[in-house]
Amino acid sequence: MRKLYQFHGGIHPPSNKSQSTRTAIAQAPLPAKLTIPFHQHAGETAKPVVKIGDHVLKGQMIGLPDGFVSSAVHASASGTIAAIDMQLIAHPSGLPNLCATLIPDGKDEWIELNPVADYRSYSPIEFQQALRMAGVVGLGGAAFPSDVKLAIHKQKIKTLILNGAECEPYITCDDMLMRERAEGIVRGAEMLRFMLDANEVLYGIEDNKPEAISALQQAITASGGVIQPNKRHEVVSIPTIYPGGSAKQLIRVLTGLEVPSGKLPTDISVQCFNVATAYTVHRAIDFGEPLLSRIVTITGNVGHAKNYDVLIGTPINELVALSDALPDTDRYIMGGPMMGIPLPAVQVPVVKATNCVIAASKKLFPPPQPVLPCIRCTRCAEVCPADLQPQDLYWFAQSREFGRAQAFSLFDCIECGACSYVCPSHIPLVQYYRFAKSEIRAREHDKQLSDQARERHEYHELRIEREKQEKADKLKAKEKAAQAAKLSSPPPLTPEQQAEQQKLEASRAHILEVVQSTIEQTDEGAVK
Ligand code: SF4
Ligand code: SF4
Repeated sequence: MRKLYQFHGGIHPPSNKSQSTRTAIAQAPLPAKLTIPFHQHAGETAKPVVKIGDHVLKGQMIGLPDGFVSSAVHASASGTIAAIDMQLIAHPSGLPNLCATLIPDGKDEWIELNPVADYRSYSPIEFQQALRMAGVVGLGGAAFPSDVKLAIHKQKIKTLILNGAECEPYITCDDMLMRERAEGIVRGAEMLRFMLDANEVLYGIEDNKPEAISALQQAITASGGVIQPNKRHEVVSIPTIYPGGSAKQLIRVLTGLEVPSGKLPTDISVQCFNVATAYTVHRAIDFGEPLLSRIVTITGNVGHAKNYDVLIGTPINELVALSDALPDTDRYIMGGPMMGIPLPAVQVPVVKATNCVIAASKKLFPPPQPVLPCIRCTRCAEVCPADLQPQDLYWFAQSREFGRAQAFSLFDCIECGACSYVCPSHIPLVQYYRFAKSEIRAREHDKQLSDQARERHEYHELRIEREKQEKADKLKAKEKAAQAAKLSSPPPLTPEQQAEQQKLEASRAHILEVVQSTIEQTDEGAVK
């Protein structure tokens, strides 16, 4: 049995997962309208390559990746592009984003798909390009382009971790995917392992998902020919503790290794992908299918909590209607109750990062209690998985001592909310950390801009100075040349010298005449 390690802190909130795992994943119906944002991933917004009125096929690319960290966006159904404009989407900023509105024609006509016969014949770069153009991004929440995660590692990757921990309460989309589609996950995981040339694949799954653990173990056992013979895939049941599914904490539990502050897992020869991402990789390579849909948990204050296979762009209110949201629902959360974001409107579309929608009510999530002063009880520090001192970070953020907050490793905070969860003074600690981080980022951005402006100004000054110097050097060189020319030419003659010169020239002319006439006389004599 594999030795497991512990990370510091952690909490055990009620899981509330069983409500949505009683029935199989259902197919959500095709909606009357799909709203597909061009920015559903970390990095640059995809560039629209369709225009209003275009008829598109299911799977057709409508947004081209633009920049190194970017990903393609596709039509989730066949139909007509009715609009390309700014629309409200689920984003912490609450700002609208560029979206394509697609009116499906109901025919579900696909583009011609080009599956890869043997992915092992692909070079890592060809494989990365295939994922980029298929719009494959991390489905665990961050939506980071998967091709970039395969591309950026300076050293050999020894261990590939498949994250199936799904530690946040209420969310069960990965659990249900592992139960029902384990074979595809193993195949996608082996493709990722092959491209990273990793020695082993570890599937980290919390022990409150016995069905998923068993399904993946069976899929590995039955995977003859899928996994390279000398490589290992192992399902590891890990203790259920929040936030055990956070990448750094999962790496610690499975390998005992710590990702140093400010470093990436790849710096310690480990790479992580979510299990749903591995499944999407399998669909993209084995079937040529771009990422058009994902599993979404609809739960909370609903009559029938359930997981749905949903087309990207489907309005969330249509999903919520399928699960019968109860009348006292007063808001919706995208993600879990610990790290999720409130939806600006329930009509916003499902995007690649939408793993769960929780219908919330005052009964389910009572309003926050009045905030009291910090009593320095250090309960927050006891549960912090990043081993920080949350009470100090709170103090620094509140007093705007951002330099000190940074010195106390503010950016190692993963915003898991464990500290806020246990705080007896009901202090919304994570909000303070988000505020401090955004202030520091804004200041760094401003500093960067002013540094760039200063550098531009200094360069401008330098250029003017250089041009002046070049002009002066040219003038000097010209004067020097004139001086040299002056020195090499003879001085002008005085009138006496000119008269003497004329005399000399006249005498030279006379001698020439005499010589000429003598030669002519000699020639005449010779002829005779
Ligand atoms: S848990 Fe709350 S009250 Fe206790 S030290 Fe932390 S911030 Fe202060
Ligand atoms: S939100 Fe940050 S400070 Fe609070 S427990 Fe999580 S990692 Fe620690």
